[in-house]
Amino acid sequence: MFIKTAGLILRRSLYKESSLVLTVLTSSQGKLTVLARGARRKGSKLAAATQTLALAELTLFSQKGRFTLTEARTLTLFEGLREDIERFALGSYFAELLEAVADEDLPDPALLSLGLNALYALSEGNRDPELVKAAFELRLCCQAGFEPAVGACQVCGRQAMADPLFDLQGGTVACRGCGGQGVTLPQGALAAMRHIVSCDPKKLYSFALSGPARQRLCSLCEGYVLTHLGESFRTLDYYKSLKVSL
Ligand SMILES: [Zn+2]
Repeated sequence: MFIKTAGLILRRSLYKESSLVLTVLTSSQGKLTVLARGARRKGSKLAAATQTLALAELTLFSQKGRFTLTEARTLTLFEGLREDIERFALGSYFAELLEAVADEDLPDPALLSLGLNALYALSEGNRDPELVKAAFELRLCCQAGFEPAVGACQVCGRQAMADPLFDLQGGTVACRGCGGQGVTLPQGALAAMRHIVSCDPKKLYSFALSGPARQRLCSLCEGYVLTHLGESFRTLDYYKSLKVSL
């Protein structure tokens, strides 16, 4: 059976002499493992569309639960990412997160859309990459079922909180005076978190933050991902190593 679907190449592994095994987030089948025969051969028509972080229209041949790529047409390569090693590394981290959260064979258009919008935002280059990272991390956690309850103090129920604290494990906020536990959450970071968890997906990156509040938001969103989705991500370590050395 042939299937035509849009797919984002999350990861590629070398296979045999000239082939690739791709991990693809597709619009119609969720996450798939796809064999791309001869994709590394010189002049292969599959070469462009099978690069990491390429979005392509894929024609797949499916047999007994295995998928082979027969045709691929590149829709976008997110060129802005390929011009900047740091942004490409960050995009690769987004891909690893999407892979961690996506289900095999279960379509999740909202997840694909979240991933693509994050890559567009990074690729266009007019947004603060660290804020794109923070917003993507937190919103991804929401879609994976770990939405933090940041709307009001866990104890007194007030939305306008004095000296709020964020509990990474519990994903809750509480005023210090109410006996809250966790990390100090500047008001600007709290407002940004509320925006990220509840805004229209199209507005996800439409916020600004600077100074210590920005720093805290970034460290908390990353900490939240590591606490709820996994202990470590190889691509995140790589991105951080670049930031230190550049
Ligand atoms: Zn309170």
